Parts: sequence; structure tokens; C-alpha cells
Amino acid sequence: MRILLLLTCLFWLVPSRRIEARYPAKAQMGPDVLTAKDSGQRTPAASARDSYAAPPASGGIRESINIKYKERYQEWKTEFLSTDIGRAQWDMYAHHPRLVITITVDSRNSQGASTGKYKWNDSGDLVAATITLGAQVDQGYPSSVYYPVMNALEPFESKNLIGGSVLAATKIAHEFGHVMKIAGTPEAVYHLQGELIPVYNKIFLNNGYNVNDPRLVELAKKMGGTPVELWEDREYWGEANAMLFLRDRVAREKFHCRLFGKIKRAVEEYAKDYEERFAEIAKSQGAIYGCSWR
Ligand SMILES: [Zn+2]
Repeated sequence: MRILLLLTCLFWLVPSRRIEARYPAKAQMGPDVLTAKDSGQRTPAASARDSYAAPPASGGIRESINIKYKERYQEWKTEFLSTDIGRAQWDMYAHHPRLVITITVDSRNSQGASTGKYKWNDSGDLVAATITLGAQVDQGYPSSVYYPVMNALEPFESKNLIGGSVLAATKIAHEFGHVMKIAGTPEAVYHLQGELIPVYNKIFLNNGYNVNDPRLVELAKKMGGTPVELWEDREYWGEANAMLFLRDRVAREKFHCRLFGKIKRAVEEYAKDYEERFAEIAKSQGAIYGCSWR
């Protein structure tokens, strides 16, 4: 049985697709963001940070990081910015005319990350998104079923070939992938999916898990896919961007073909329908600097 109630990424919670996966419905609206109040103590830094709460006149990246996480966050960000693709994506959003991306670090879902709190303007442009990084986002590898890229790093860290900051930066890239995908999704479609997924799941739970139920077929048609398909599509876009980051990050490492071979095997096993987006990236730099994808 596969039930997915959640539209936004909360990747640390995802078990194998063969195991029932349920998510709190409230998470559909996106994760809560840690505020200065949650820290329990007011610091000058926290007070200064709150000035960012005023509605910005233009786009950009707002880093709302509790002082206790600043040092580690800076390491993760530096790692992300150590690549051409990381710098290019960061600069694009830092100078974006409309979209404000807020980045925060939260102790909940500590090894995961999520993106949510999306807002659109009257013209239909995405104008706000919040990326929340877990306080230990430099640890923990999600399942290869939905996360073939992040998962592939595990043996390389255990052999001390990469550090936790690379994992954290890969997770940042995954979240940037979500923002990019949502920026290309019409607001009406996003909200329609948010409305209909719970309706779909309710019917599914009460009809003997029959996906061929005409009501479910009709709902999936309206939403552009079943809840599982929508989930997969979003997560694999996140993973595609994570792969883009790793392509640059490990280009000069001896193990880069082994890493991409591992990603390839996981994609073939679990994400065959989505292989093209990964293959495109693999082919984009001379088959990842000499590694064979096909
Ligand atoms: Zn995700």
C-alpha cells in the first residue's frame, strides 16, 4: 500500500515504497519555520534577524539562521558554493527580481530538509519559498528508492572520501531543485493537488486500495498523476539537481565514476520512468567526465 499525503519534501521520513508511508496532513501546508521565539532566549543576533520579517521589496535569499547553527550552516553553504553550479544557482536567486527564498535551520527533522511556504503574486509568479535544513543535515542518508543521489554518497563518507559538509550541500541542492520545479508549476495546479490528494487518499483507504476505482482515475487525471506519482516526480527533480551539484563537486575525485555508477543503478532499479532527467545531466559534461552512463 502506498499512501502519500505530502506534497512538499520531508525526505528523511520516507521509508521503502513497499512499506506503508503516512505523513501528517498538516505537513501539506509546508513545514513550520523556527522563529526566534522557539529558541527560548532573545539574543541581539536574533533581534537583528527579525528585521528580515518585513516584506521585502524585491527578491533575494534571506538567511534566517539561529546563532547556534551559524557556524555549521556557513560550512554547508561554503561547500555548496565551492562548485560552479552552486554559485550559479545561488547568484540567480540572490539577485532574483521577485522570488524571496528564506533559508533556516531547525532542530526538528534534524537530518532532513524541506521546502515549503510557497507564495505567488497576482501575476502567477512564485514570490516566496522557505528552505528548512535540519540541524544535523550533514548526517544521515535517505533511502535509495526516492533518493538515489543522496543515498549514493554513503559508502564514500564511510571510507572518509567525502565529509558531512558534502552531504549537507547535496541536500541544499536537492531543496533548490524543489524551488526550481515549483517556480515552473502554476499556482492553481499546486493548490489543486493540495486539495485533491487528501480526497484521493481517503477514497483509496476505503475502497480496498483499488487504484482503478473510476473516482481515483478521475482525480489523478485532474491532478496530473496519482499522489505517489506526484511525489516521485517532485523528489526526483530534487535529486536531479543534487546530481548536478555532485557532478561538479566530485569531478576531480578518483571515485567519481563509482559514485555515478551507484546513482545509475539506483535510478534504474527504482526510478526507471524518470531516468531521462538523470541521464541528461550525466551526458551534459562529456558523460560526467568520462564515466559511462549507458
Ligand atoms: Zn525533496
